[in-house]
Amino acid sequence: MTDPANPFSRLPSVDSLLAQPEMIGLKQRYGHSAVVACLRFELAKLREALSIQPSFEYDLGKLIQDCRQHLAAQFKPSLQPVFNLTGTVLHTNLGRALLAEEAVQAVLAVLASPCNLEYDLASAGRGDRDDHIVGLIRELTGAEAATVVNNNAAAVFLLLNTLAMRKEVIVSRGELIEIGGAFRIPDIMSRAGAKLREVGTTNRTHLKDYAEAISPRTALIMKVHRSNYAIEGFTASVAEEKLAELAHEKALPFVEDLGSGTLIDLSTYGLPKEPTPQQALALGTDLVSFSGDKLLGGPQAGILVGSKALIGKLKRNPLKRALRVDKLTLAALEATLSLYRSPELLARQLPTLRLLTRTQEDIQGLAQRILPAVQSTLNDHAVVSVAPCRSQIGSGSLPVDLLPSACLVIAPKGKGGGKSLNRLANAFRELPIPVIGRLEDGALRFDLRCLEDETTFVDQLKALNP
Ligand SMILES: *Cc1c(COP(=O)(O)O)cnc(C)c1O
Repeated sequence: MTDPANPFSRLPSVDSLLAQPEMIGLKQRYGHSAVVACLRFELAKLREALSIQPSFEYDLGKLIQDCRQHLAAQFKPSLQPVFNLTGTVLHTNLGRALLAEEAVQAVLAVLASPCNLEYDLASAGRGDRDDHIVGLIRELTGAEAATVVNNNAAAVFLLLNTLAMRKEVIVSRGELIEIGGAFRIPDIMSRAGAKLREVGTTNRTHLKDYAEAISPRTALIMKVHRSNYAIEGFTASVAEEKLAELAHEKALPFVEDLGSGTLIDLSTYGLPKEPTPQQALALGTDLVSFSGDKLLGGPQAGILVGSKALIGKLKRNPLKRALRVDKLTLAALEATLSLYRSPELLARQLPTLRLLTRTQEDIQGLAQRILPAVQSTLNDHAVVSVAPCRSQIGSGSLPVDLLPSACLVIAPKGKGGGKSLNRLANAFRELPIPVIGRLEDGALRFDLRCLEDETTFVDQLKALNP
């Protein structure tokens, strides 16, 4: 009913809107209550417009369109895929390692079905969730025993809390690291209840420094892989075998936080060498911790390998229950580790290794192929060219440019400088699959090392609004 004295009476009712044919699809997709809430919201906006300007005429088509957009935006997941063209392969902020297809399938298989997570199919008795991966880890690292927790920070925390509560842990001053995202060895140590006993100096630590620090209060000698920085020049550190020997003379465990922990010799792929857990164990380290989603190329996890006695202690700490991984992580980790049984296929099957070993020639070819599409999309706004560049491994490997690669350089046309550059970068981030690059020297740079789906990349350029 329209009351000429009351402009609000011109607005449709929620019920009449729900009866519109376009609403049926929306109700099926989002449910009745979400559509009603959205209509109420949109009607409130129209009432507000009418209260300011009583002659305002609403448009039914626009109202329905607004409602459709509102619901689509509301239901869009916050966590979504992006194109990582930053040039850092294992980018912590972009989710680190991409899972292999085999790992994805393994996760899918246990997602919506019961599984034998803690059930022993042979004996019909209770099982241990770690058992699904311990065999593989032992086989690949030569360790006596292993366990797994949520991430490497949790692994270090569990290790310190179990073996060094109210006691001292001897660490070289040159290894008191901070990894991005507030992982600091001294902080983790105090939260775990252990007391840090720093020895040596930032650049030089000798065996004697460790030996002199040992007392009845000592629980452990610890080595921390320097992951994300290097100390160069007049330096000295003590080799693992010497530290292990010293620790064992005093009946102390020697433990190492390896950080990245690759299981293969990366130098055979032309990549910089990184220490492996199997080497650390062979040198006498009693317990080694490393990440699942760095160079290993699996899901987020912290893996601990070492002696049966020490792993047993970790597993009996009630904190293990609080730090344990779920079935999805175990499924992905088992499938990832399983790929290491076929080393010849690894560079193809494991995305992390596939991306790290991609040749500059291959990436350059890709850059030339997609250059025309990107240039024609941006014709009025930017000049696009191909240039050589260097990618980084990321996630605690040395933060120096290492891997020869190729990038698209997108330089804004005309004046406008930083403003037009930021507008371009925003436009790429607003695409259905946001594209994340790097701003450098007045241009937007896309390192194409991690671009594998070039069809989707090119197809969505038509949605770009520069
Ligand atoms: C990356 C890293 C950690 C933290 O590992 P997360 O898996 O991110 O928790 C700890 N120590 C070292 C040496 C590292 O490189």
